[in-house]
Amino acid sequence: MTELQQQIHSAGPRGILARGLGRSYGDAAQSGGATVLDLGPFCDIDLDEGAATIRAGSGVALGYLLRVIVPRGFFVPVTPGTRMVTMGGAVASDVHGKNNHLEGTFGSHVRSLSVVDGHGDLRHLRPDHESEEFWATVAGMGLTGIITEVTFDVLPITSSYMAVDTDRFDDLDSLMARMSESDSDHRYSVAWLDSLSRNDRGILMQGDHAPADALPARLAADPLAYDPRAIATAPTWFPGFLLNSLSMRAFNEAWFRKAPKQRRGELQRLADYFHPLDIVREWSRIYGASGFVQYQYAVPDSGAHVIKGSLERLRAAHVPTFLTLLKRFGPSNPAPLSFPRPGWTLALDMPADVHGLSEVLDELDAMVLEADGRFYMAKDSRMSPETMAASYPRLGEWRTIRKRMDPEGVFASDLSRRLGL
Ligand SMILES: Cc1cc2nc3c(=O)[nH]c(=O)nc-3n(C[C@H](O)[C@H](O)[C@H](O)COP(=O)(O)OP(=O)(O)OC[C@H]3O[C@@H](n4cnc5c(N)ncnc54)[C@H](O)[C@@H]3O)c2cc1C
Repeated sequence: MTELQQQIHSAGPRGILARGLGRSYGDAAQSGGATVLDLGPFCDIDLDEGAATIRAGSGVALGYLLRVIVPRGFFVPVTPGTRMVTMGGAVASDVHGKNNHLEGTFGSHVRSLSVVDGHGDLRHLRPDHESEEFWATVAGMGLTGIITEVTFDVLPITSSYMAVDTDRFDDLDSLMARMSESDSDHRYSVAWLDSLSRNDRGILMQGDHAPADALPARLAADPLAYDPRAIATAPTWFPGFLLNSLSMRAFNEAWFRKAPKQRRGELQRLADYFHPLDIVREWSRIYGASGFVQYQYAVPDSGAHVIKGSLERLRAAHVPTFLTLLKRFGPSNPAPLSFPRPGWTLALDMPADVHGLSEVLDELDAMVLEADGRFYMAKDSRMSPETMAASYPRLGEWRTIRKRMDPEGVFASDLSRRLGL
């Protein structure tokens, strides 16, 4: 801790930034010329089974935490689509999961945070104590201080399996209608869209934790077994041209056909339902050397038309999108920079070397802003300061609190400089 405080007092002109596992897609966890801190040494875990809470060091990786708590009958209140995030990163981005429509973001389940601020002071923040500082740190992208410890609620479970309902839809309208109607029927819900098909057909996967007494005998012997592993590593030499419109179309066709028209209560392991990408290590290499752009926005229900409009625009511009996921968002929490807002969110990734991509995304930005939507900083690499300010109306409020916590602007990132935060 003293070492951390010394680092803050002796910070150079480019400042300091905490970095978790670097799973933000853009420049949130990097800062050229600055001191970038690895929070790995903050790695203690203390599970209070009676209170169903956990105190974890900010450098603890979710994958490790789950190995500790699942066999003891607990799950995290919110998980993003990968286990390769730290507790500090989960708070700083205020991550959301497939249960956002009912249970909000990770920050909504945090009871307290230990943070070293820009004065070098260790603060213990809670939603009901120094609440402004607490909520400015949740979704604060590491710019209010270095989070060292996080205490949050955990969810009791009796098995490490999910009961999943799958439904296939031939068009986007019927899929979205079902998602709106069945919002509260399942704890978790996500839809995969085949954005290369004209009707944006898709597969809706809704799930709940399976109770141990619903497991067949072969699984019931060890209902909380949890040992997820990657089965392959994508090679460094993966040629980008393999991932083009044709190959993506073929993949999507096969994926869509593989899903049943309707299936109820299929048992899936936690890792398969929540973290499918982690099955292939370094999966992002399949985009080849030029990489990809991730784009995620949220719009209120009144802006639902933007989902279809943005997919049509990308198709018209021949921008192939590989992994397109649609979710419902529920009530926001008090954090001024938290991304989720009630309505819809769409996440897409697309090869970065598509001709004219940047102009098309500028058009999409305008559509989203027009609909009173916003963009996710943890997945952003290209937004302008004007777009940021327009999509986060409480930015000024957050800046005032941040100034109090870090008057000299010790904490900075490439993202904070790009967006003029
Ligand atoms: C495959 C994949 C799927 C994803 N799915 C989702 C999803 O479903 N939902 C979602 O919300 N996000 C999702 N994400 C994004 C990811 O959850 C966030 O970017 C998360 O913040 C990454 O955590 P990290 O530990 O890698 O943090 P980093 O990427 O290293 O850092 C993220 C931010 O947190 C700050 N930070 C990290 N540690 C600390 C600390 N100790 N103190 C202060 N600030 C800190 C950094 O400065 C930076 O601003 C996904 C990412 C991937 C790669």
